[in-house]
Amino acid sequence: MTQTPLSKLNQLCNALAIDPQDSGVCENEFPFKAPPDFINRIQPGQLDDPLLKQVLPVVEEAVIHSDFNRDPVGDLQANPSPSLIHKYHGRVLLMASPKCDIHCRYCFRRHFPYEQQINQRHWKKALQQISADNTIHEVILSGGDPFSLSETAVLGLIKEIERIEHIKTLRIHSRTPIVAPSKAPCGELLKWAQTSRLNKVLVLHCNHANELSQLTAELLQTYRQAGFHLLNQSVLLKGINDDSETLITLSHTLFAQGVLPYYLHQLDRVEGAAHFEVPNQEALALRQTLLEKLPGYLVPKLVKENAGEPHKTPL
Ligand code: SF4
Repeated sequence: MTQTPLSKLNQLCNALAIDPQDSGVCENEFPFKAPPDFINRIQPGQLDDPLLKQVLPVVEEAVIHSDFNRDPVGDLQANPSPSLIHKYHGRVLLMASPKCDIHCRYCFRRHFPYEQQINQRHWKKALQQISADNTIHEVILSGGDPFSLSETAVLGLIKEIERIEHIKTLRIHSRTPIVAPSKAPCGELLKWAQTSRLNKVLVLHCNHANELSQLTAELLQTYRQAGFHLLNQSVLLKGINDDSETLITLSHTLFAQGVLPYYLHQLDRVEGAAHFEVPNQEALALRQTLLEKLPGYLVPKLVKENAGEPHKTPL
């Protein structure tokens, strides 16, 4: 089956028997996009499906809220050169790709000016800056999604990073293995990982246990066997995962696939996503229930990213 993501709303509505008139569907400047693997896990005709809500553009996105803006975590203030974001001590984020295999409606970078940021020339300059700063020991590949690049391109970039002696850890942030496991890189990248001197961390992004399947289980096992440490970050999303049973099931299902829950993010206040926000009091009550019902290693840290702060802030 083709793994080309769907990018037309009418394709999605037809595939899932959704009537656009009934569902508040509304085209948006951040266009719809979702891969077949993800769409296959949505219940047809169910407007409250927790996966559908993550990708369906709706009228609420057009409502303006004064506390929500286009750069909620201050990426553009921490951008010493294009492609590079340097917020935290000892590590930098290199934007590897302007694209993702999915467009998550709550994405904090949904307005990010990728086209001005990412190209080979910018990477070269960013790598020179990383080479010149031996206080940096970890490079985080993000985007967009680094795994939306071809395997050859992402591996080429990783090998450049590996040549920098003071870099000890490569961290990749990707949602592709969860939402599009059939197209995630699993050939040359894994061969490289088996022999690389770098510590390798893959931070996945999964918000609901329904996103996980036999396909993700098999893929994630190959990453683990190749030497990647697997962690997960989720975003707390109203109507999607804002109840304790859903979050508990998510932690158990991740662990069954060899992944430790790492962060549960309070929503970044990005323009167009206010309808996903869960009040802090409710978020704290959820965390308390998780603490009571899960072993500590399955309780993700509930955090908020505040622009300009030198670390994520526990709620
Ligand atoms: S995969 Fe990540 S970067 Fe891409 S749209 Fe979703 S949240 Fe945003």
